[in-house]
Amino acid sequence: MTTILVVGGAGYIGSHMVKMLLRTGYQVIVLDNLSGGYRDAVIGGDFVWADLADRPTLARLFKGYQFDGVMHFASFIEVGESVRHPGKYYQNNIANTLNLLDTMVKHDVNKFIFSSSAAIFGEPQYTPIDEQHIKHPINPYGRSKWLIEQILSDYDHAHQLKSICLRYFNAAGADPEGQLGERHSPETHLIPLVLRAASGQHSHITMFGQDYQTTDGTCVRDYVHVNDLCQAHLLSLEHLLSGANSAAYNLGNGQGFSVQQVIDVSQEVTGREIPVVIGERRPGDPAKLVADSKLAQQKLAWSPQYADLKTIISHAWQWETRCQNG
Ligand code: UDP
Repeated sequence: MTTILVVGGAGYIGSHMVKMLLRTGYQVIVLDNLSGGYRDAVIGGDFVWADLADRPTLARLFKGYQFDGVMHFASFIEVGESVRHPGKYYQNNIANTLNLLDTMVKHDVNKFIFSSSAAIFGEPQYTPIDEQHIKHPINPYGRSKWLIEQILSDYDHAHQLKSICLRYFNAAGADPEGQLGERHSPETHLIPLVLRAASGQHSHITMFGQDYQTTDGTCVRDYVHVNDLCQAHLLSLEHLLSGANSAAYNLGNGQGFSVQQVIDVSQEVTGREIPVVIGERRPGDPAKLVADSKLAQQKLAWSPQYADLKTIISHAWQWETRCQNG
């Protein structure tokens, strides 16, 4: 049986990945320090509660299992926090990732799927953003992701460690079966916050700026369903296992939706009035971020199944209402 280590498998995207890997017939081992994830989100496989800073535990883990590949979802993801506490981000997202990579090299494990981000591009020079777009991250979070991408290229050169970097645009939605979903604490992402305003859990949603150079003045993002992201991971893994070279792909639907459109569709899906307060712009928010994912579609035969915003929000709403009902 092909054995995959999923680091950060108790988190939002990682937990959906574990479910998909198990369904596909892989043996799954999850390593997570539960700093942002939840033990009950890991629906199967073996679970190891540990931190990537803990090298002896990592060494024991790699001695105990013969991994065929590693997927790495465990990183801090809040842009604002990364500006206030860069050390925290560099320690976890870079130093701890190096621990993982060095352990892999030592134990001859050479297939790696890395969760990267659209934040590596910084302020877009053009949209849709393809893989060639200049990488000029404008915050420590984005820099941490871009640095690891470059380090991975060095590890390929030096140690033949093959990797695929997947640059997510706006991960959204939830397990279509309603078993898993997004549970960040604190929650900062638009769709869950809009849905909490719909359910009455929050009094309103604050719209960060209404004076951008977009059709309705609010920021435009490319929302991509969490299961479609996981599908891209699965395809990437299969590619590496069949001998493919290292690569990097941008993952989005190629279609932008504004904050206003997200609120409108959420009202339609939930049938609730969503109170909106217009706030200040959030520092570091580009007006428009949309992916060009043609390369992933061509090379991985990736074909998003849930590209429709209404479907993405419906799945998120199904999860949100389930959480509220305990
Ligand atoms: N946003 C907003 N209000 C919120 C949270 C987010 O208006 O309470 C906007 C944010 O400015 C951005 C978009 O929603 O334009 C998506 O933000 P999110 O934090 O979900 O993802 P990001 O684009 O930062 O990765």
